Amino acid sequence: MALIVQKYGGTSVGTIDRIRNVARRVARTKNEGNQVVVVLSAMSGETDRLIELTHQAVDFPEGREYDVVVSTGELISIGLLCLILKEMGYRAMSLTGFQVPIVTDSVFGSARIKRVGTERIMEGLKKDFIVVVAGFQGVDEDGNITTLGRGGSDTTAVALAASLRADLCEIYTDVEGVYTTDPGICPDARKLKKISYDEMLEMASLGAKVLQTRSVEFSKKYNVPVLVRSSFTDAEGTFVCKEDRDMEKAVVSGITYNKDEAKISVVRVPDRPGIAAKLFRPLTAEGINVDMIVQNISHDGYTDLTFTVSKRDYKKALGLVKEVSKEIEAKEVVGDQNIAKVSIVGAGMRSHAGVASRMFETLAREGINIQMISTSEIKVSCVVDEKYTELAVRVLHEAFELGKEDVEEE
Ligand code: ASP
Ligand code: MG
Repeated sequence: MALIVQKYGGTSVGTIDRIRNVARRVARTKNEGNQVVVVLSAMSGETDRLIELTHQAVDFPEGREYDVVVSTGELISIGLLCLILKEMGYRAMSLTGFQVPIVTDSVFGSARIKRVGTERIMEGLKKDFIVVVAGFQGVDEDGNITTLGRGGSDTTAVALAASLRADLCEIYTDVEGVYTTDPGICPDARKLKKISYDEMLEMASLGAKVLQTRSVEFSKKYNVPVLVRSSFTDAEGTFVCKEDRDMEKAVVSGITYNKDEAKISVVRVPDRPGIAAKLFRPLTAEGINVDMIVQNISHDGYTDLTFTVSKRDYKKALGLVKEVSKEIEAKEVVGDQNIAKVSIVGAGMRSHAGVASRMFETLAREGINIQMISTSEIKVSCVVDEKYTELAVRVLHEAFELGKEDVEEE
């Protein structure tokens, strides 16, 4: 007997029929003799609708009450699934984040999980219940309802799997696994059999939407085996797990892109200690996340500094930077929203040379100008004009031969 956590995303519970389909899958896993804990998202579109309502109510919804509203979507789906499971003759019990409890900090809208109470769930499992937990929500130390940020149900599932020492955490979604790139852009994108935590972490934070980044951090930290698969087919999914020797054979495992970035350049700033600190201080104070930062070497006592933020934060960031630019005596501040970040990710980069230059050559051949570059041990990212995103993804996918089958063990 195994303890399995299954998480179903919004499209998997998008209609009553689909919830019935989920109930059948859950029942099958239970019938095979396993203990099953289910985590659900809100029905697809529901969280968007709830967020929209808060914005119709007021211009700037305040955090505590915002979370009260947007956390309700998950309550509906867990209740509905339990109704159906019970009618099918199973013992089923829904639990909210508050009831579990899933204790978080008090950062409304993007709270982080501090600990998970396992008693009530374990009690339920012992009594043969299927336990169905609301994703995306928690409760802070003062009893306030919190939410974990968009896509947060993935993190709920992995956190539960870690705390319950589950044998497996299955993430059911509307795609069959993790692909070498977006199949919508590249028809020969291939489903990966497995991917390491580190690669998945890079892929998720660089734009692959299949898992919330936070959930991957969690699974890596607690070594939770995660299987990403479709709730609509029986196809084998993708395993997210510890790196093994095979994984290093592929130089590049995936190509990601992110169109949700904008670029801000501060031109000709005096090259003095403390300039960067002054520039970024107000952004940090406003909770604006800065992604890539590039600073040029100065020739004549001046330097240029360019960085990227998410499009959502662009206007605010631009305003703040224009403010400080006077104080730091910058010549001008220019912004550009029409950019995209295209990245190649692969654990094999650690042991192979020339990967970055192959990327640059490939983009150059297509006449795609690279505006910014950043690298880590296992990824290279380039900022390009947004209109070349799809082209860049396709030519890189081809150049790194990602459409080909997995390299077999010799
Ligand atoms: N329902 C939430 C959202 O749409 C959480 C989730 O689906 O993971 O972001
Ligand atoms: Mg999701």
